[in-house]
Amino acid sequence: MDNSKAQYDLILIGGGASASFLALQLLEKNPTFRIAILEKEATFPPKLGESIVDQTALFLKSLALEHLLDKHAIKTGVRFLFNESNSKDIQDVAEFASPTLPGYIKAYHLNRPVFDEDLLQTCIERGTIVYRPAQLIRTKFEPFYNEIEIEVDGTRSTIASKWCVDATGRARYFHNELGWEDLKINLNTGALTAHFHGVYDPSEWDTARNDYWETQSIGSRAFSTTHLMRKNAWWWIIKLDENTTSIGMVFDKNKISFEDPKSFFEAQFETDAQLKALTKNASHGPVRHVEQIAYVSEKLFAKGQAVIGDSGAFIDPLISPGLELIGQQSIWLTELLTNDLGLNEYKEDAWKKYEKTFLKAYQSRLLIYENAYGLMDSFDLFSAWLRQGNFVYFGFIVYPTVLFKSRLKYPLQFNFIERTALLYFARRFDKIHQRRATQQRISSTSKNTIAYSGVRVPKSPRLVLMPFSLFFRAIFAYFRVEWIEFRSFFTKKR
Ligand SMILES: Cc1cc2nc3c(=O)[nH]c(=O)nc-3n(C[C@H](O)[C@H](O)[C@H](O)COP(=O)(O)OP(=O)(O)OC[C@H]3O[C@@H](n4cnc5c(N)ncnc54)[C@H](O)[C@@H]3O)c2cc1C
Repeated sequence: MDNSKAQYDLILIGGGASASFLALQLLEKNPTFRIAILEKEATFPPKLGESIVDQTALFLKSLALEHLLDKHAIKTGVRFLFNESNSKDIQDVAEFASPTLPGYIKAYHLNRPVFDEDLLQTCIERGTIVYRPAQLIRTKFEPFYNEIEIEVDGTRSTIASKWCVDATGRARYFHNELGWEDLKINLNTGALTAHFHGVYDPSEWDTARNDYWETQSIGSRAFSTTHLMRKNAWWWIIKLDENTTSIGMVFDKNKISFEDPKSFFEAQFETDAQLKALTKNASHGPVRHVEQIAYVSEKLFAKGQAVIGDSGAFIDPLISPGLELIGQQSIWLTELLTNDLGLNEYKEDAWKKYEKTFLKAYQSRLLIYENAYGLMDSFDLFSAWLRQGNFVYFGFIVYPTVLFKSRLKYPLQFNFIERTALLYFARRFDKIHQRRATQQRISSTSKNTIAYSGVRVPKSPRLVLMPFSLFFRAIFAYFRVEWIEFRSFFTKKR
C-alpha cells in the first residue's frame, strides 16, 4: 500500500443528509473508523426535501440528533385540499385533514441547507474528515480498493479506502461514471418548485377557520404540509419560517407537458383559483425544474462500493418519504460496513439480502404512486386512497416502531396479498374515476367539507388500538365510495 496517500476505511462522495446519516452511525458503532466525506459545494444551495414524516423524526430521535431540529418549524399536520370545479368560492374546496395531536412524535419543516450543514458539522466534531469544496480529478474503483485524486482550493491530493459510498444525490456519480444501470419503471413524473415570499393570507385562499384543528393540534394550520390536489398533479405548500414558503408542483409527464418550465409554472398561478389567491401579493425566487423524479438503480452495491439515498433511487415526494427511506437504508449499511470494516467479514449473502429488501421497498412504493396520479383530483376517491395508506403506513410501520425500536430499519414492502389488494383498489378507483369523468360527475360534497384522518400517535396504551381504528376508517371510506356509485345509477348527474 502506498503510504503517501491518506488512507480511510470509507470514502463518501457527497456530503448531504445520506452521507452524514451513515457516517454518524458508523462512528457511533466504532469511533475509530476513518471516514472521509468529499463535498463539492463550499456551502449548500437550497435543497429539496423540506418536510419530514413521523418515521424520520423517530430515526433522528434514535440517533440523539433531535436537538438539530430546534432551528426548524414544527410541522403541525398534513392537509389535502381538493377543488374539483376550480371554484373561486373557497367554501367549495373540500379538505382531508390530518392534524398532529399531542403525542409521541413531532415532525418538522426543514430549512435543508441549514439542517444538512448542522449534520455535516456534527460529523466533523465526531471525527470525520471533510474535504470541501472538493473536485474529483481522477478515480479508480476496484474490488475493495478505491483511489480518488481530489482538488480542494487549488491543492491536489490522493486518498484511498476499502469502501466507497456514492452519496451524491441526483448527481448519481456511480450511475453516470461507472454505468450502474437503472430498472425500467412506469412512473414518469417531474417537478417545478420555488421559494415564495409574502405568501399566506388564509382568508383569501384557505378553507374556513377550523376550530377543531386550532384547539386540538400542536400548532396552527399555517405550518402544516398542505397539498393542493389537482388533475394528474399535486402541489405542496411548506411554510419554512414567517417569510419563506416552499411551493412546488409534481405532475404526471404522460399527461402534462410544456416548452418552458418557468412560464408554465408561473401560468399555473394565473389559472388555478386557489393558487392565484395564495400568491396574490407574493414574489418568488428561481424556479427549479426536476425533469425526472423517479428512478431505481438495478444494483445497490458491488464489492467495495455502494450507493445510498438519491444516488441509488427515488420514487415520489408525496407524503415526504425521501429522508425516511434514507434513514432506514443507512441503518442496514451501517450494520454491513461495521462487519466488513471492523471484523473484516464480507458477508455477500447479507449484502444481497439488503439489496433485495430495498429493491422490493422501491417497487412497493412505485406500485403506490403509479396508481395515484389518475385519482388525485377526486376528493372522495383520493381520501379513501389516503385512508388505506394511513392504515398500512401507521399500522405496519410507525406504531410497531414506537413499540419496538428494532423495527425502525424496516421499509414499507408489500407481500403478495398486500400487492393484490392494492391493485384491486387501484383498478376499482380508476374505473370509478373514469366513469365519473364520462358522466361529468365530481365527488358529492357539501359546502366547507372537512374529513379527518383520525391518525394519532398517543403516548398511552391506546396506541395499540389505533391500527384497528384506521382499518375501519379505510374500509368505511371504500364502502362509502361504492355506495355513492351505486346510488349514482338512480340519480341524475350533478
Ligand atoms: C420534488 C421533490 C420534493 C421532495 N420533497 C421531500 C420531502 O418533503 N421530504 C423528504 O424527506 N424528501 C423529499 N424529497 C427527497 C429528498 O430531497 C432527498 O431524498 C434527499 O434530499 C436526498 O439526500 P441525499 O443526501 O441523498 O442527496 P443530496 O441532499 O442531494 O446531497 C448530495 C450531495 O452530494 C454533493 N455532490 C454531488 N455531486 C458531487 C460530486 N461529484 N462530488 C462531491 N460532492 C457531490 C452535492 O453537492 C450534495 O450536497 C424530495 C425530492 C424531490 C425530487
